[in-house]
Amino acid sequence: MRKWLQHISNRTARRLTLLLAAAGVLLLGTAVWLTLSMEEEPATLTTFAMGSYVQQTVYGSQGEEAAQAASTAVTELENRISWRVEDSDIALLNQEAGKDFQEIGSQTWEILQTALQVCQQSGGAFDVTIAPLSWLWNFDENPHLPEADTIAAFLPQVNWENVLLGEDNTAALKTSSTALDLGAVGKGAACDAAVAVYQESGVDRAVVAVGGSIGLWGEKPFGDPWRVALRDPATDGSLGELALQGGFVSTSGSYEKQFEEDGTTYHHILDPDTGYPAQSGLVSVTVWSSSGVLSDALSTACFVLGLEDSLPLLEEFASGAVFVTEDNQVYVTENLQDAFSLTAQDYTLAGTL
Ligand code: ADP
Ligand code: MG
Repeated sequence: MRKWLQHISNRTARRLTLLLAAAGVLLLGTAVWLTLSMEEEPATLTTFAMGSYVQQTVYGSQGEEAAQAASTAVTELENRISWRVEDSDIALLNQEAGKDFQEIGSQTWEILQTALQVCQQSGGAFDVTIAPLSWLWNFDENPHLPEADTIAAFLPQVNWENVLLGEDNTAALKTSSTALDLGAVGKGAACDAAVAVYQESGVDRAVVAVGGSIGLWGEKPFGDPWRVALRDPATDGSLGELALQGGFVSTSGSYEKQFEEDGTTYHHILDPDTGYPAQSGLVSVTVWSSSGVLSDALSTACFVLGLEDSLPLLEEFASGAVFVTEDNQVYVTENLQDAFSLTAQDYTLAGTL
């Protein structure tokens, strides 16, 4: 009899435990669902600056104000660093090339400082004094193949060592034929400027995309990573994705701006050694870094350097990359191996570097 009673109570206890567990799971599920569904809709804003769309998605109660403030910050930055803007810091330095040190904004000074480090570490594959050549090729307004003699004559004018950074936010260009073009870092710098606003505004999290550069700020709920889609260089579709906890991502690709003349295709990333579009066997490089200026500068530098020569440079700046070669091979640096997944059918994941 006692045994029988014990049997019943054991069974009841088991049922009760099961029931409680099921209720627990249900409660937890409801809580998760409530948290997710109660989350505020993000503020989204698309504006135009630096020749690109500036796309923002900002979460948190201050989202809308922060997105507006970030958009203003990006335009202010453009007015500081674009050679096209008449009274920008860069236009001033170009105008006064070969003369005295000029006073420039601290933001411009810091961008130049980081960019010059990449110029140096890349052995000049990335060069902020590319302007005489980029103006000659004129990819933005009237792209055309320049005369070989003209390219040869302009080549010596490209030399980042002619940029002098003084103290107290001053800079100078050593010779009158030196000129700056920050086109290769502008969009990354814009992401930095937007993220600085998010930081100050105390928003929960945000993502900003300016052309081929992206800034990720804050953490997603439940430790989920941000998912950044990488473009298939051959189509408008997706190559794959990077699952990242944060940071900045920039892509440089030969497909971005190009023209054809006499059966040859020319693109806008120039090799400062030859004066012609870089031919390193790559069609695109995506770089992940701790800042937008770095990811943008490094993506251009790596595109010029090619796969193997890029590796020491990426290591120097604690960055990672996804390379796509002309023969549809995809290479990923070890630090992004777990983060990257390839989805496009026409490519082969060739290896880890
Ligand atoms: P995008 O501007 O399409 O995002 P990049 O970031 O790679 O692409 O920058 C390319 C731009 O940088 C060019 O349009 C030109 O203004 C400039 N540029 C071209 N070649 C170099 C180079 N070797 N070093 C520095 N800047 C470059
Ligand atoms: Mg770049």
